Amino acid sequence: MLRAVIYSERCKGCGLCIAACPKKIIAINKSEFNQMGYNPSMLTDPGKCIACGRCVIACPDTAIEIKEAGDA
Ligand code: SF4
Ligand code: SF4
Repeated sequence: MLRAVIYSERCKGCGLCIAACPKKIIAINKSEFNQMGYNPSMLTDPGKCIACGRCVIACPDTAIEIKEAGDA
């Protein structure tokens, strides 16, 4: 099944993907910092992802891809 995969090391925590997601399943992970020092976003409920790609288009840092679940 296809779903969004977030590459947290590329994420700057801008939140644009959160606003773009119609399923409201993206949130900032405040308990984690990536190597750039940002709190990255994360999927809160990957099973609800409909692979619409809106988060991919919204992300200015190409930190999200649509992939087969389990590939990443
Ligand atoms: S692909 Fe669509 S449903 Fe899945 S996380 Fe991105 S915006 Fe949300
Ligand atoms: S839009 Fe991209 S850079 Fe911004 S929070 Fe989402 S994944 Fe991170």
